[in-house]
Formats: sequence, C-alpha cells, structure tokens
Amino acid sequence: MSPENDARREQLRQNLATVEERIGAACSAAGRDRGDLTLVVVTKTYPASDVALLAELGVTDVGENRHPEAGEKAADVAAPLRWHFMGGLQTNKAGAVARYADVVHSVDRSKLVASLGRGAVAAERDLEVLLQVDLGPDFDRPSDGRSGAAPTDLSALAEAVASTERLRLGGVMTVAPLEVDPAPVFERLASLAERLRSDHPGATAISAGMSGDLEAAVSAGATHLRVGRAILGERPPLG
Ligand SMILES: *Cc1c(COP(=O)(O)O)cnc(C)c1O
Repeated sequence: MSPENDARREQLRQNLATVEERIGAACSAAGRDRGDLTLVVVTKTYPASDVALLAELGVTDVGENRHPEAGEKAADVAAPLRWHFMGGLQTNKAGAVARYADVVHSVDRSKLVASLGRGAVAAERDLEVLLQVDLGPDFDRPSDGRSGAAPTDLSALAEAVASTERLRLGGVMTVAPLEVDPAPVFERLASLAERLRSDHPGATAISAGMSGDLEAAVSAGATHLRVGRAILGERPPLG
C-alpha cells in the first residue's frame, strides 16, 4: 500500500462517515430507518482504484453515468459491487451497459426499454430498471432535450418494462432541477411512485437525492440516494 493510497482511503473514510451522519440525522428527523435506504456512491470521473477503496470501506453500491467509462471500471474492480448506471443512454449502447449494470436509473423512453431488454437477454442477465422522470419547472410540457420521461408517459413506460423479458421494474428516479427548492420535486416523485405501485407493487425504489439535497430526499421518502461529490470530492467541470 502506498502512502498516497493510505491518504486517499482515509479521506474517503472520513467523507463517507460525514455523509452517513447526514443520512442518519435526516432519517431521525423523518422517523425513518436507515436500513430502508441504499446509498449509491457515484464514482464517475474517479478511477477504479477509488472504487476498490470504497468497496474495502464497506460500500456495496456504486454509480456511473457514462459508457464506456462505467464498463471499464466494472471490469477493473474485482470486489462484488452492485453497479448502477444513471446517465443519458443511447439505444446503441444499451446492450453493452446491460452486460455489467445491475440497475439502470435512467430509462426514459420505450426504445431504450427494448434495447436494454435485448441486451439483457443476450447477456443472460436480469436488469433492474428505474424510470427517470423529468420534473423540471415546465414538466407538463414535452421536455426539450432534458433527460427523463414526462409524468404522463410513466404508466406506458412501466408496462413496457414489465412486459420485457429479463427486465424488472424497480421504481422511479429524478434529478431535481438546479436553483429550485427540491422538496416539492421529491414529494411529487414520491406521489408518482405511489401511483405506479398500485399497478406494479414491486416497483418500490425511489431514487432521489444527491450531495446537495439528500436531506430533502430522505424526508420525502427516497429509497436510493446517489451521492458523488460529498464522498469523492469536487469533480473538474465537464470538458
Ligand atoms: C453525478 C450524478 C449524481 C451525484 O451528484 P453529486 O452532486 O456529485 O452528489 C447523482 N445522480 C446523477 C444522475 C448523476 O449524474
């Protein structure tokens, strides 16, 4: 073990502890059980060596948002982790993602459902799918290029997933728009999730909350938090 590696491990350990304290406090405030939440540590842009350190520190779930970066890391890290894919996904890359992802959080159109299904069948793997919902300020109008399905499209999309071999409908996901209070956005996601569960009782996942807004997500009933910067550190701006 190099000194650099030891220093990085210590930094990650401290950051994880700080985030766990925040989650614990948010759970207490909301009267929720920490055991009902999954922390997905978002490792995008950081090296596979960080993912390996996180696994040693007890992390079980990691998230990535780009292919092929995600697949390369999944191949590099031997530790048994659950890999969550949460990025914009082209249909022609979906088959490749189905080979290593355990959960895809960013499904927002039926073409993608079909491609992931074909990929999962070809790879002989089961894939959990979350439907990404666009809850931007004008979410009742067709979204112009933003990621996520309109709330009105959710039930058709859910049917498409439920009727596709090797895909399992896990629930819903959103990214709260910047510069707005995330609380009503997460409340709205939770109510969409509740409606979805009346037709698909197994779709219990609510993926919401990131480094900046995890407390609001816990309070609104999120089951999955996707936390990157608060654990790995600030990322350089996307080039
Ligand atoms: C990067 C990313 C996250 C993590 O965001 P942080 O602000 O680093 O915690 C969560 N969800 C998605 C979809 C992301 O792309």
